[in-house]
Amino acid sequence: MPELPEVETTMRLVRPLVVGRTIQRVECTWPRTVEGDVKAFARAVQGQRITQAWRRAKWIVLDLEGPARAARHMLVHLRMTGRLVVEPTRQAAPAWWKVGLHLDDGHTLWFLDVRKFGRVLARSASIPEFADLGPEPLSSTFDGAWLHTSLQARRRAMKPLLLDQTFLAGLGNIYVDESLHAVGLHPLTNSARVSLQQAQELALVIKRVLAEAIEREGSSFDSFYRTPEGNPGSYQAQFQVYGRDGQACRRCGTTIKKLVVGQRGTHVCPRCQPLRQKRN
Ligand SMILES: [Zn+2]
Repeated sequence: MPELPEVETTMRLVRPLVVGRTIQRVECTWPRTVEGDVKAFARAVQGQRITQAWRRAKWIVLDLEGPARAARHMLVHLRMTGRLVVEPTRQAAPAWWKVGLHLDDGHTLWFLDVRKFGRVLARSASIPEFADLGPEPLSSTFDGAWLHTSLQARRRAMKPLLLDQTFLAGLGNIYVDESLHAVGLHPLTNSARVSLQQAQELALVIKRVLAEAIEREGSSFDSFYRTPEGNPGSYQAQFQVYGRDGQACRRCGTTIKKLVVGQRGTHVCPRCQPLRQKRN
């Protein structure tokens, strides 16, 4: 499932191809992708110019300007298997396409989605999807002091807490497992037991892991993820624990175990990440 680095990579590669372009015509093969009302979606985005592209959490946002006053943003969530590609309109439509935005320069921005959980939405100036999101991990708002205070306040197991988008935006299964291993915290550690020093270390590690993953255009271990240019990303070669159950920990040689935490497959080195019952 695409997480922050994959969504950021997709946004960065699509941005120069769509910003400044006007959406001339919309096609859709799966109404649920656009919240069920294809005509309303088409009315909201047709004739609009794309003025900017950015990312918030796991959402890609295209800012819109033009006659349809109701639509100021188009939001794209890739969910499990969503992808964006930009191709010449005269070419055959790509497999699995759900939404096609035909642009005024002879290209089409396609949203492809095998599993059909992805969403493409039109929004006015306010974006309700963003109302409850936690801070961006790569922003200056997110640091060790903020993280420590927030962990103390929650008293939840670390893994589900870090996956909770209202706590911190953009992380998913892969980058949480990798970050917790890097700082030696067990996924079931109660957040209130994490020391200030551990929180400071974890904040730095999360920033480093995400930045490195963006540098490598994300990772595609167990998903359909491909960049808009068709590349799988290469961060999967850097994985320390994710998907490595049964293999030796690269740091200590202990066999990596797979647990289920909050219904999510979770990868852990029992030696690097001991579960301590008392305050460290
Ligand atoms: Zn280890």
